[in-house]
Amino acid sequence: MSWQATVLTLFPEMFPGPLGLSLAGRALEGGVWSCSAQDLRQHGLGRHRAVDDSPFGGGAGMVMRPDVVDAALAATQAGADVPRVFLTPRGRPLRQQDVQRYAQGPGLVLLCGRFEGVDERVLQSREIEQVSIGDYVLSGGETAALVLLDACIRLLPGVMGSEESGVEESFSAGLLEYPHYTRPAVWEGQDVPEVLLSGNHAAIAAWRQKQAEEITRERRPDLWSAWLARTEKNGAAATGKTGQTGQTGV
Ligand code: SAH
Repeated sequence: MSWQATVLTLFPEMFPGPLGLSLAGRALEGGVWSCSAQDLRQHGLGRHRAVDDSPFGGGAGMVMRPDVVDAALAATQAGADVPRVFLTPRGRPLRQQDVQRYAQGPGLVLLCGRFEGVDERVLQSREIEQVSIGDYVLSGGETAALVLLDACIRLLPGVMGSEESGVEESFSAGLLEYPHYTRPAVWEGQDVPEVLLSGNHAAIAAWRQKQAEEITRERRPDLWSAWLARTEKNGAAATGKTGQTGQTGV
């Protein structure tokens, strides 16, 4: 059984879009996941198939109607075990741990907003998770849905080349990833850190761990304090540890 993405949108032609290429595209062709984009307009009302109306209380813009959104949700016939997600800047910020949870499930129903958003009542009555991909405002939920799907699909079994690449990267251990280097060994007069050429795997792991910690401390104080709190609780020293420790992420 493949992982099923159902997208409710006013622009179904945006899917699979970039996810039809490269890693996700091959997985789509191979049946690892499937993508069904449903046009919300199908459930629109009247001659003009209206999906939105003006906001009660006044103000700029339009709001997507609860009856139209509900009809589209019902038409998906997705099981109760499939999370329904509305992409919105008002949502809980998306984290790698959410992505892991979604990837382990049967798939997702994604509701893409347009205009000012969606009537609050249908969001409350239909057990819809609200998720934001970051603190900025997009013109519609479609690009956010593509981001969320991309993050999930690469974690599906068999999609990424090496089993390890999902475990060692940024966020999986609660830290940002260490820096990478490849050939040429000298570029514009700059050497590669010597330890990486040493062949000493323990020393390399220790160096990478230290780099990951320093970069996280510098760039993401929020992740750093969470990581410190977790490692202290586990009775481990914050520095000098080697290897990733399989903590549950951020
Ligand atoms: N008036 C809304 C923004 C509407 S933007 C507000 O201030 O909260 C139009 C649509 O784009 C939203 O309904 C949502 O589906 C999508 N969108 C915009 N920014 C987003 C973000 N950061 N994360 C997820 N979806 C977003």
